[in-house]
Amino acid sequence: MSYVDEVIERTVRENPCEPEFHQAIKEVLCSLRPVIAEHEDAYRRDALLERLVNPERQIKFRVPWIDDNGNARVNTGYRVQFNSAIGPYKGGLRLHPSVNLGIIKFLGFEQIFKNSLTGLPIGGGKGGSDFDPKGKSDREVMAFCESFMTELCKYIGANTDVPAGDIGTGAREIGYLFGQYKRLRGLFEGVLTGKGLSFGGSLTRTEATGYGLLYITEEMLRHNGLDIAGKTVTISGSGNVAIYAAEKAQQLGAKVLTVSDSNGWVYDPDGIDVAALKEIKEVKRQRLTAYGDYRPAAEYHAGKGVWTVKSDIALPCATQNELDLSDAKELVKNGVLAVCEGANMPTTPDATEFLKEQGVKFLPAKAANAGGVATSALEMSQDSERRYWTFEKVDKELKKIMVNLFDNINDAAKRYDMEGDYVAGANIAGFEKVADAMMAQGVV
Ligand code: NDP
Repeated sequence: MSYVDEVIERTVRENPCEPEFHQAIKEVLCSLRPVIAEHEDAYRRDALLERLVNPERQIKFRVPWIDDNGNARVNTGYRVQFNSAIGPYKGGLRLHPSVNLGIIKFLGFEQIFKNSLTGLPIGGGKGGSDFDPKGKSDREVMAFCESFMTELCKYIGANTDVPAGDIGTGAREIGYLFGQYKRLRGLFEGVLTGKGLSFGGSLTRTEATGYGLLYITEEMLRHNGLDIAGKTVTISGSGNVAIYAAEKAQQLGAKVLTVSDSNGWVYDPDGIDVAALKEIKEVKRQRLTAYGDYRPAAEYHAGKGVWTVKSDIALPCATQNELDLSDAKELVKNGVLAVCEGANMPTTPDATEFLKEQGVKFLPAKAANAGGVATSALEMSQDSERRYWTFEKVDKELKKIMVNLFDNINDAAKRYDMEGDYVAGANIAGFEKVADAMMAQGVV
């Protein structure tokens, strides 16, 4: 059995009931086969892959809080500090009822390579809880966040581990978490990113993941002789990533036809009204059914269906495994040119394979959505130098990072005779730097 297969087999056996984690490990390690084969003896000697797939530390804790009726409630909190070979752990906190250790581990593992690809000195981590902020009052969300941070603050810090937002964790949650950290530790430091602009946040961080997704999509299309202007785009999700992906797509001259949430989806033949979407989701915290109040010509459909709409570019921006093989077939039937992942691992492995076989340009999440964490690292720089950069400066840096990132993954794929395979390119380019650092630092 090859070294890669041995490690996959052992990881699956030792981490049962964590299908998303297994999926991420297999996807990454299998595409690294040619790189690992070149260094197999050294990597085996130093157990590089065994160390890579085992988090440095995983913390699981109880989060008790009191709801508005005076009842005590208990959720489970997680922080997985996966890999600090190239910098302090960095990765978001997901608040969603589906959260479990396997999901946090898959996200943390992916984060190692994504962070490496940004070219910035940040290691990989991820955390969260099965708490659902949806339908909770501000006071309940604050009570949860304070309790969560009361435990988490023991393990994080500006130079050790810097969490950020993710599904369910937006500006409001980051504000409550930061306030509690400061109170408990007596430190005003850049321990979280995605902070409000009045207390150490960075301009452009809110937009960064969606904007970055479009910058790299534009660059990839340009490299393949295509122009994003005039193209039609389907987007799933209607959260942070989806909203700013839609905004930038329209700024670049594309037309966005759809958005969705976990209940249904909207088709707007005239192009999604981003201002209305922001008001519904960011201000009023409503469901997408409200979109028709702003745009009577738009259609609302319950359930899933974004990928049945004909478009040139598909941007899944909601959650993992939301685009499966039947969706991929539908997209190909409708002539899709590119699928670029805004969410983490939104495309199932068989759908990814099918899209690649059919010649659809496919940008994987760890490259395509790296703009968020890259800008978080720029926020860390601003916090440590106690300065604020302008929107234009951060946006320019973000664009430069995304264009460089595309060049790096494209080169890595070419070096291993897999030109155009951006999945392999991203895994290889992300891995090389981390592996080099881990080998240089000895068996730790
Ligand atoms: P938000 O919470 O802001 O939005 C998530 C969106 O996805 C909502 O529209 C939500 O609908 C929908 N959604 C969530 N879970 C499901 C589900 N199980 N089925 C269907 N729809 C679902 O999160 P973000 O926009 O921040 O994150 C979206 C994705 O992007 C995630 O995969 C995240 O890990 C990834 N990402 C985010 C980054 C960031 O900077 N925010 C950075 C890099 C990656 P509803 O409101 O109904 O739940």
